[in-house]
Amino acid sequence: MTELPGHPHIAFRGADLFIEDVRLGDLATAHGTPLFVYSKAAMLAALAAYQRGFAGRRATVCYAMKANPSLAVLQLFAQAGCGFDIVSGGELERVMAAGADPAKVIFSGVGKTRAEMRRALQAGIGCFNVESESELEVLSEVASACGVTAPVSIRVNPNVDAKTHPYISTGLKGNKFGVAHEHTLQAYRRAAQLPGLTVVGIDCHIGSQITDGAPYLDAMDRVLELVAAIEAAGIALHHIDFGGGLGIDYNGDRPPAADALWAQLFAKLDARGFGDRHFMVEPGRSLVGNAGVCLTEVLYLKPGEQKNFCIVDAAMNDLPRPAMYEAYHGIVPLSRRAGPSSTYDVVGPICESGDWLGRDRELSALPGDRLAVLSAGAYCMSMASNYNSRGRAAEVLVDGAKAHLIRERETVADQLRGERLLPAT
Ligand SMILES: *Cc1c(COP(=O)(O)O)cnc(C)c1O
Repeated sequence: MTELPGHPHIAFRGADLFIEDVRLGDLATAHGTPLFVYSKAAMLAALAAYQRGFAGRRATVCYAMKANPSLAVLQLFAQAGCGFDIVSGGELERVMAAGADPAKVIFSGVGKTRAEMRRALQAGIGCFNVESESELEVLSEVASACGVTAPVSIRVNPNVDAKTHPYISTGLKGNKFGVAHEHTLQAYRRAAQLPGLTVVGIDCHIGSQITDGAPYLDAMDRVLELVAAIEAAGIALHHIDFGGGLGIDYNGDRPPAADALWAQLFAKLDARGFGDRHFMVEPGRSLVGNAGVCLTEVLYLKPGEQKNFCIVDAAMNDLPRPAMYEAYHGIVPLSRRAGPSSTYDVVGPICESGDWLGRDRELSALPGDRLAVLSAGAYCMSMASNYNSRGRAAEVLVDGAKAHLIRERETVADQLRGERLLPAT
């Protein structure tokens, strides 16, 4: 058995690639391709690293569900004791449909609408992570009109560089996220005065795919400074939320393990006398990213003068990260074959040159062979679209030797539902 480095529970047994005890080739045959497959054990193992890090502390892991919002995935994390970080009214409905406790839901995002606020207040969510002073005013108005008070944290923009891709860096002054560090105290004073709000905590989230602990330690210093100043002003903070953002191994990346990172963070928290607070974190990618793969079939090989292309049946509508961020995903065969290999750009059928999944990959493949695109558990299916009128893929969750279909492949009828022709003239 050869485990793929950084991908627990995904391994070659002989020539064939398995996820837990299920041969991926069998799933591709049974359900067709493209197909997302997730390992339950890998998701729970990723969560366990956070739980170990928080052992003996008061803490809530709020899964940032935008990474992978499939109902069965939410159900799994709800049953494992997680809360949820949501960013829209749609996510609230989804997480409630999966059986989550609304009191463990926190609502982030820079553009919450009044309707979303009302619905979240009716549901009784745990906390609104407010991202601007104008949002404080609107939320207070909406809550007062509903006859309730809204529990709030203010998201601080600590102005630290998470050293990640610019599109997924969120904690710098030039980003749209959070309230600037120097305005935070004033925002808390305002929140404490507003009739529709109850201050409950403080929040920060500095970016995504962070592979170094240093930005977290810097952000923590900045946040703890503020906690001291806010409490000195007579405003109590019951929880401190350090956001998500921990990276995964896409291509030899070496992010700290969640428990190791938290051992470092708690050393600082304890030293500064904050170790007994209620902590929250909002991890997304690090809980699900390397627990999933996307299976695809080779349609054509197209040798060329400058490039060889391996054309597969998955595309940028299924796996948008390479096109959006030039992201790297490992690509391996479902069945290793002996024989000559060549260097290919692995591309999809969509009419865009940006529709590539991997560049300059050494593969031994023939039409009809199946491949696995790795690290496809986070920000793949959740970002999938119908571009080129392609139906979205099916999803399977594997638990030991059992494979559960958790989402059917989208049909043409699904895609056309809700559309109308113009009236006959
Ligand atoms: C996206 C997001 C997260 C999760 O980020 P990951 O990099 O997936 O861990 C957490 N908090 C907020 C506010 C987010 O927008």
